[in-house]
Parts: sequence; C-alpha cells; structure tokens
Amino acid sequence: MKKEIICTVCPRGCHILVEGDEKSVFSAEGYSCKRGLEYANTEYLSPVRILTTTVKISGIDGDLLPVRSAKPLPKDKLSECMDIIKKTEVKLPVKRYDTVIADICGTGTDIVATKDIG
Ligand code: SF4
Repeated sequence: MKKEIICTVCPRGCHILVEGDEKSVFSAEGYSCKRGLEYANTEYLSPVRILTTTVKISGIDGDLLPVRSAKPLPKDKLSECMDIIKKTEVKLPVKRYDTVIADICGTGTDIVATKDIG
C-alpha cells in the first residue's frame, strides 16, 4: 500500500511517498532529512494528533473551557475521546494545565485546561 504524506515538521512541507503494509514501512521517498523520515514512518504506521477542543462549564450556560491533549493521541481514538469530552462538565475555578480528564480512553494522556477561568 502506498501513501503520500506531507511532512509538517518544518515549513518546507516535503511530499513523502511511503510504501508498506499494516505492520511495517518498506520504503520512503521525497523526505529531505531524518526528522521527516521519522515523521513519515509514524504517520504511516500510527498517526497521532494533538486534540484541541472545549468542554462545558458546570452551571454556566454557553461558556466553554478551552482544553487540549497533553500529548498527541492516536488518530483512530480521536472520535472516542471526543464522545467523552462532549459529556464532560468542569467546575470552576480551573487553572491552566489542570487535568480535566485523566488518561482519556486509556491512552495514558490527560486532557488539560489551556486557560485560567474563575
Ligand atoms: S522532510 Fe525535513 S525538510 Fe522536509 S518538511 Fe520534513 S522536516 Fe522539513
């Protein structure tokens, strides 16, 4: 299986063509540095993303707390994580980097506040 990956590690945005199967990468072409090759391997085999969103604030209609994952999450877990985040409400006060949801979906990654409120 072939996959074209645009490297986002630096602004150059190299187009890297990766060939492999579900378990390993056989070849990669188009990268310009080692960091790009590492990015392409990860993106091909187990892509991850930082999840940035908001959660409801308990007792305050319409106000939302901005949050993000403390580390990148597996891309195939993002929808499951969002289902949990949508059902979550936080109580004020909240400080930046406070854990809002610990170990979301068993990933070992916390969802943390990105703003002080209250
Ligand atoms: S492969 Fe290297 S040079 Fe190209 S975008 Fe990625 S980090 Fe930048």
